[in-house]
Amino acid sequence: MTHTCRDCKRTFSSELELELHQDNCKSGELFCDSCGTRFAERAATEDGWHYRCPEPDCEGDGIGEDIHRVEDVRLKA
Ligand SMILES: [Zn+2]
Ligand SMILES: [Zn+2]
Repeated sequence: MTHTCRDCKRTFSSELELELHQDNCKSGELFCDSCGTRFAERAATEDGWHYRCPEPDCEGDGIGEDIHRVEDVRLKA
């Protein structure tokens, strides 16, 4: 049984390996407050300035508004 990172699609042989990976997976470093989806920075911005949720049905945008860094949220928690 393999465990797949839903952010970057890498597979791991154990759940522990997957959890360790997810802590620093660069493909899921941002998330959208509106829909709760995690995604890569490059999926949300083209110029590193304007951020928009990549979910087609979601209107979330703006870093620090609807889009947040997973890292920052962890630090606050
Ligand atoms: Zn990953
Ligand atoms: Zn969204």
